Amino acid sequence: MIAIKSVAHSYGRQKNLRFKDWDINRGEQWLLLGDSGSGKSTLLNILTGILEPQQGEVLINQTNLYKLPGRKRDSFRGQNIGMIFQTPHLVKSLTVKENLLIAQSFARLREDVKRIEEVLSSLGIEDKKNSYPHELSQGQLQRVSIARAVINKPALLVADEPTSSLDDRNTAAVLELLIRQSKLTNSTLVVATHDKRVKDQFTNEYVLEQ
Ligand code: ADP
Ligand code: MG
Repeated sequence: MIAIKSVAHSYGRQKNLRFKDWDINRGEQWLLLGDSGSGKSTLLNILTGILEPQQGEVLINQTNLYKLPGRKRDSFRGQNIGMIFQTPHLVKSLTVKENLLIAQSFARLREDVKRIEEVLSSLGIEDKKNSYPHELSQGQLQRVSIARAVINKPALLVADEPTSSLDDRNTAAVLELLIRQSKLTNSTLVVATHDKRVKDQFTNEYVLEQ
């Protein structure tokens, strides 16, 4: 489904980041492991079409992602990839429910309030649907951004350190949701973390060496 070949990237004159080749197949669940600064976020951005690497290629179903015209790459991303970032990206002037409704309409899907309620309740934040982002705790915000990423059942679900602001119980709940969601929709799941609590739940690992 996705492969990287001979990929390397450097920011300015900083040290060169080299990434060993990686083949990710449909429906697999991967942990992307590495210490802080080892290049996890960089690699996720390269994989999802946000950052063109200086060397090497990213192949999505045999197509070179960075050979696609910019617009095609954007629409590919919108339709196929759900992303969860380290810090939540939500629209501050909209409620939780409204943030999820616009995620559906941006993807040109019909509004589906039942789906929204189902996802919020599986994350334990159903009672927050009419709250605004500033009324939520950091952990609750993170769960809303996870809800937004999974709402449209993406083919590839990518999470960058999704559990770093959560306690043990919520970490387990969020991982369970990510794994369950990816299985339900046969989505590929890639979770970047340096959180040792996460390790046991995944069968595939890609480890970055510093
Ligand atoms: P991780 O997510 O594993 O913590 P990153 O991919 O964020 O690692 O960073 C890898 C390396 O690249 C680090 O040394 C970081 O300082 C550097 N880096 C990341 N983003 C930038 C940037 N936009 N400009 C310059 N250096 C960067
Ligand atoms: Mg990072």
